[in-house]
Amino acid sequence: MRLGPDYVYQCPDCGEKVLQMDVQSVYSFGCSFYSDQRMDGPMFYSPAPICRCKKCNHIYWLDHRNQTGSYPVLSEAPEKEAIPRAETPTLKDYFDAIHQKAFHSKMELTYLRKKIWQTGNRLLASKTPLPSGCSRNDLLQNMQELYLLVPDINENHKLMKAELARNMGDFESCRELLDYIIDREYEETTSRILDECFRENTETILLWEDKIPC
Ligand SMILES: [Zn+2]
Repeated sequence: MRLGPDYVYQCPDCGEKVLQMDVQSVYSFGCSFYSDQRMDGPMFYSPAPICRCKKCNHIYWLDHRNQTGSYPVLSEAPEKEAIPRAETPTLKDYFDAIHQKAFHSKMELTYLRKKIWQTGNRLLASKTPLPSGCSRNDLLQNMQELYLLVPDINENHKLMKAELARNMGDFESCRELLDYIIDREYEETTSRILDECFRENTETILLWEDKIPC
């Protein structure tokens, strides 16, 4: 994995700065892959593209629009050390980003709704209580909105819509969508999700694990 640089981003509302490390590539060794397209693992790091400003609470995108500079990862310059690192967004941050209308395109809104779906699934699977102000009904409503946002362009979209339908308990739509997936590459995943559909299971499942080589 090639790390760096550390980018500096500035809150567009109050000017407060944060640091976030970029990555050039990611190892999937030891990763777990879930049916909601979530990927978790000890060596997996993916910089979050949004951040809640600690000073003014504004949520903004960590991209070229708000980037003001960079430092090499190994730099210990005092001015760099003084800048706090961006924190990983929470479920509430993603919901608030939508409420604050912090998105500028359908792609950004889709990203936020997908993160709510996946983060909600992770919390429910680990039996972690949902944060105050976020209910199961909010998660369900988000799935309905996400379902409408995702197009039917490729197999990946169809698989994602099928999984959303299953999570929402619409097993018939799930089976119909899976029928349209013909690429052999998706055969095993499609079959696993279809099994869960027949069992009328609405929960996200672990699809496979990439074992760390010994
Ligand atoms: Zn701010």
